[in-house]
Amino acid sequence: MTASQAITVNHRTYRWPDRALVVVCVDGCEPDYINQAVAVGRAPFLASLAQRGTCLTADCVVPSFTNPNNLSIVTGAPPSVHGICGNFFWDPEVEAEVMMNDAKYLRAGTILAALADAGAKVAVVTAKDKLRALLGHRLKGICFSSEKADQATMEGNGIADALALTGMSVPSVYSATLSEFVFAAGLALLRRDRPDVMYLSTTDYVQHKAAPGTPAANDFIAMLDRYLGEMDALGATVVLTADHGMNAKTDALGRPSIVFLQERLDAWVGAGTARVIRPITDPYVVHHGALGSYATVYVNQPGQVDDAMKRIAALPGIEAVHTRAQGCARFELPPDRVGDIIVVSERLSVIGTSRDRHDLSGLDAPLRSHGGLSEQRVPLIANRPAGELPLRRWRNFDAFDLALNHLQ
Ligand SMILES: [Zn+2]
Repeated sequence: MTASQAITVNHRTYRWPDRALVVVCVDGCEPDYINQAVAVGRAPFLASLAQRGTCLTADCVVPSFTNPNNLSIVTGAPPSVHGICGNFFWDPEVEAEVMMNDAKYLRAGTILAALADAGAKVAVVTAKDKLRALLGHRLKGICFSSEKADQATMEGNGIADALALTGMSVPSVYSATLSEFVFAAGLALLRRDRPDVMYLSTTDYVQHKAAPGTPAANDFIAMLDRYLGEMDALGATVVLTADHGMNAKTDALGRPSIVFLQERLDAWVGAGTARVIRPITDPYVVHHGALGSYATVYVNQPGQVDDAMKRIAALPGIEAVHTRAQGCARFELPPDRVGDIIVVSERLSVIGTSRDRHDLSGLDAPLRSHGGLSEQRVPLIANRPAGELPLRRWRNFDAFDLALNHLQ
């Protein structure tokens, strides 16, 4: 493979990396997290990019959740192409809610796997193990999670000493350290193995608890700024984006603002007639109580869809209600994996099922979450200047396109 060659993945063409490339997905990184840390001098590396780098604001995929967006970034395509439109979906074949973190649900190849197949040295480090199988699908290279770094093997993860890379111990799944481990491992790999391409993906534990500009949030950005600054000093191209933003989902007194949609539907159309699926649901719910700003509804009786939509649209806290066809067209989603109705709540509200089905006892800070249109803006930042950029709506899944096709 020579520098003049290019690869094509999901109908998009990417130039071969001319130097080590690190694409970082900072989970839940509302642009204001960076802005606030820069403003108080906590992120000198990122601040320096105003002069010598590229800074765009991009749109993530709605539902603004972790898995759909991570998969969009590594495939360069929306969920209508790669198929992953939530952490959970209703599988009509087995009539059950199933996790979508198995690679069998992935319908497209990744840029990472294609680069590796063409001879590039590729490494992926993700905070939570739930993303590892999807990100590493058919990837000939390194792919492991901080969460299970101690269990990484050469056969399963392409690396035998993942834990020894950093000298850190395996962090708690509910900690900022789980994300720091990702950067520390990435930096160690860059120094030791010099991969051609790395993809680093963190977790939003801090962002779910701490608003932009707060001490914990600034500490987090300062931490990643140090690591990215070191990668920059090693000569790597660094591109930072996010899977989604993050907002307070509370009233003025800090109480969670929840639309209990299943409860309402049961009252309108009768219990057992409509089913609310919240694709944010995952095994790690302590920090958000499985409450996000997006849900999809299956209605048993097709004749009731219109009426249910009108009633949902009239509820306080609801921003958008679409039929499957409208919603899939607007948000580029796979129609066979969403319900009859797509519901998005407003910036300050989340969608729940019923009062008795949400355990909020684990919330030790006012609810912050994501999932809606209000969390769609994310940073897309690079440490090199771009030429004349096309005037277009930039997406977070243009990260590899920006990195490989546009940076100078
Ligand atoms: Zn996320």
